[in-house]
Amino acid sequence: MRIEADLDLCQGHAMCSMEAPDVFAVAKRGEVEILLDPVPDGMRPAVEDAVKYCPTQALRIVED
Ligand code: SF4
Repeated sequence: MRIEADLDLCQGHAMCSMEAPDVFAVAKRGEVEILLDPVPDGMRPAVEDAVKYCPTQALRIVED
């Protein structure tokens, strides 16, 4: 599994990094950075929550 982030949509809310801090990093008032590519399957639940709770729907899971 990989993650695509639409940086035009991302507004740096950092909900994603709260849900899955090992996968997402967000600098202060910055844009999301994907830390793991691909993402290990064990992190799928946290990543799905991050995708779900992103207020701008900037994140997308891409299956390998
Ligand atoms: S939650 Fe969404 S908008 Fe906020 S930093 Fe993450 S990807 Fe960007």
